[in-house]
Amino acid sequence: MIVMKFGGTSVESAAAIERVAGIVKAREERHPVVVVSAMGKTTNKLLAIAAAAIAGKREEYIRQLHDLRDFHSREARQVVSLSERVDLDCFLDEHFQELTELVKGLAVLGELTPRSVDAISAYGERLSSYIVTLGFRHFGLKAEHVDSRDVVITDNRHTQAAPDFVETNERLAAVIPPLAGRAVVVMGGFIAATEDGVTTTLGRGGSDFTASIVGAGIGAEEIQIWTDVDGMLTADPTILPGGHRVKTISFAEAAELAYFGAKVLHPATVVPAMEKNIPVLILNSRRPEVDGTRIVAETVPCGNAVKSIACKRNITLVNIHSTRMLMAHGFLRRIFEVFDRYETAVDMVSTSEVSVSLTIDNRKNLDAILAELRQFSEAATERGQAIVCLVGENIRYTPGVARRVFDALEGINIRMISQGASLLNLSVVVSEAGLPRAVAALHEAFFAELDPAVFERNEAVHV
Ligand code: ADP
Ligand code: ASP
Ligand code: MG
Repeated sequence: MIVMKFGGTSVESAAAIERVAGIVKAREERHPVVVVSAMGKTTNKLLAIAAAAIAGKREEYIRQLHDLRDFHSREARQVVSLSERVDLDCFLDEHFQELTELVKGLAVLGELTPRSVDAISAYGERLSSYIVTLGFRHFGLKAEHVDSRDVVITDNRHTQAAPDFVETNERLAAVIPPLAGRAVVVMGGFIAATEDGVTTTLGRGGSDFTASIVGAGIGAEEIQIWTDVDGMLTADPTILPGGHRVKTISFAEAAELAYFGAKVLHPATVVPAMEKNIPVLILNSRRPEVDGTRIVAETVPCGNAVKSIACKRNITLVNIHSTRMLMAHGFLRRIFEVFDRYETAVDMVSTSEVSVSLTIDNRKNLDAILAELRQFSEAATERGQAIVCLVGENIRYTPGVARRVFDALEGINIRMISQGASLLNLSVVVSEAGLPRAVAALHEAFFAELDPAVFERNEAVHV
């Protein structure tokens, strides 16, 4: 068995679903279990509908609901056989009726809880997985739909739920392999349920995580993440187009890149795969002939120090200073207790005797955090910062990496720097305005020469 996950753009239209059917068909003898995201930007649209509802914008949410139904119906009809059209129409009627009622309920309450966010955003994958199942049948595959909420069981931390691996693995092992023996199994990513059957989600971008949970649960031989780029690239293409393809990378490197903003992979994805030592591949559904990126346990010897550069935008720098704490112990503990109490993750930290600088990307509780910090220190914040993170197992073995970073960033104000904590990353904080220039300069410094065993040069840009 293999797990094949197709992201939003890979199932965004009838033509895209047909392409996916072809890709799956070519691998049918490997018994694929297919995990799909919501079609195109459906999750964003559902969240916009929820926002319009609680803002009392009735006309707006009614129109958006119509548009969403039209979109699903139009695309689905082109990939569903005539004999299954009635089923499709019933399915869409039922689901959009339910969804409309839910949205109207929110409008009455005027309040959006994390639990209702999950109930609404789950419709994207509930719809797409069923439509893709019918589409596969239309294109000549035997396909069976499994509702992920029956097999992926989580806690009740809505919008960010964590899987109960014991229960989930038990259910996956009981349900999936027997079905996969006789048909292509299709499931929605991102969505799950609590033990009691209440719908939850794994967080934005969570379909990658579903693929990995399912892959580990059924002992798949491979987990394939099909997306809209050729694989893990040496830089985030939304910031620096024309990065090179990384042919192979370790679990640890991929996890670090994902954590520091490489959206191509949800940060939790590698964990289940790594535990079961299942290779994860990143592949392009528009260019299936490209080999993509292979993420595996062992590192391939590489002549380059850095494998890729990740970035996290919209970061807030918090500077904390307390002369009262000079020579006193417990300063750091007190600071981190505050962030812990407000469930706010800290990404980077740098300290001196009486000062601490750190970065966060979740500002939700920042005012309360600052109020508490100010009880024992001076605390100031700066918004609009970005983390640039160089990742590579070789960084720790290569002398002079920091010098090359500073040389490349000459003229750019570095607000913070950190190396060593995870051994395979070197991160700097710069202003968001300076981010494109910083990434371009670092990319030039570290990827002008490429080890062909690990990278495929993108000839289109670097001529
Ligand atoms: P999907 O819908 O298939 O899950 P995502 O949009 O979540 O796709 O992830 C793919 C996107 O990740 C790419 O289009 C690209 O813009 C972005 N990305 C960020 N960093 C990288 C990187 N280092 N390599 C490749 N893609 C990256
Ligand atoms: N549809 C969800 C999202 O947009 C999950 C995913 O695509 O991975 O976040
Ligand atoms: Mg994604």
